[in-house]
Amino acid sequence: MKKIALTGDRPTGKLHLGHYVGSLKQRVELQDQVDQNLIMIADMQALTDNARDPEKIRRSLINVALDYLSVGINPDVSTIFVQSQIPALNELTMIYLNLVTVSRLERNPTVKTEIKQKKFGQSVPAGFFIYPVSQASDITAFKANYVPVGDDQEPMIEQAREIVRSFNSIYQKDILVEPKGIFPPKGQGRIPGIDGNAKMSKSLGNAIYLSDSADEVKKKVMSMYTDPNHIHVEDPGSVEGNVVFTYLDIFDPDQAQVQELKDQYQKGGLGDVKIKRRLIEVLNAFLDPIRAKHDEFEANLDYVYQVLQDGSEKANEIANATLEEVRDAMGINYF
Ligand code: ATP
Ligand code: MG
Repeated sequence: MKKIALTGDRPTGKLHLGHYVGSLKQRVELQDQVDQNLIMIADMQALTDNARDPEKIRRSLINVALDYLSVGINPDVSTIFVQSQIPALNELTMIYLNLVTVSRLERNPTVKTEIKQKKFGQSVPAGFFIYPVSQASDITAFKANYVPVGDDQEPMIEQAREIVRSFNSIYQKDILVEPKGIFPPKGQGRIPGIDGNAKMSKSLGNAIYLSDSADEVKKKVMSMYTDPNHIHVEDPGSVEGNVVFTYLDIFDPDQAQVQELKDQYQKGGLGDVKIKRRLIEVLNAFLDPIRAKHDEFEANLDYVYQVLQDGSEKANEIANATLEEVRDAMGINYF
């Protein structure tokens, strides 16, 4: 079977360290391992909770594309496309909505959490409520069997798998492919925000962005949540739930030194400023080459839009072919 990977991001802001660890890194690695690597900028999904701010989506679209190219997603190998330019996805969503119950959607734990986080109360936009179904369309339109995502996306993959099984069994055709999630190593599937919140998220204002300047990184790390009980340098501190150490665990190439810092911190005698300085150094070394490429592509936006247009054309061909198969299987190609 052909190996096809699909992932995407909502253009609701710039991409951050959580995106890199949770998904971008896996995508860059997958480029050379799969037959087809598709990457979608999910502007329709972003509109489900940002309908009143289309300008934000438009602006973020190009920022996300710049971030992709800066981290090494290569448009000669991967297809980068824009969700709203692929009409077949909407038709598939309508078809799949009939295979899913309202109570099943209500049980989706990620949607539940996000409804709380976004403070919708009783006013959840219907499009937002059904976004897992639209995500199933994105995945199945390309017959993707691999979906490299962060941990919060696991319920979405499960829901897509259920839809595939229903469709194939009801219409008695083995057309749709059950996707498999590819998750990051343990502890990296949901990296916390600089405020200690369980998830770094562009909508929560607690992120370090891949395009942040060295100065911004410094300011953010200095304000980072550590151990609230570690008041004096000589106090023993906790490394569990201490965001500085969480990031050092992930990004510091010198893990032996991280272990030494942890030992010292737990014993007492190591101040927050010292560990923060180390983290600033580590993050800036990691981000420097990404920033350099970002500047390069930003000076050539015509090229970036061309990449999106070419990718969208290619994606349309594939999605239209799947939709035809689906319509045939359902017997709704009447004429
Ligand atoms: P929004 O707040 O608009 O939902 P987001 O920051 O959650 O934005 P998404 O575009 O929803 O970003 O997520 C894109 C991908 O990045 C998904 O695969 C998701 O699992 C992954 N991801 C997002 N945040 C994190 C994080 N903090 N740690 C690990 N992976 C993450
Ligand atoms: Mg999200």
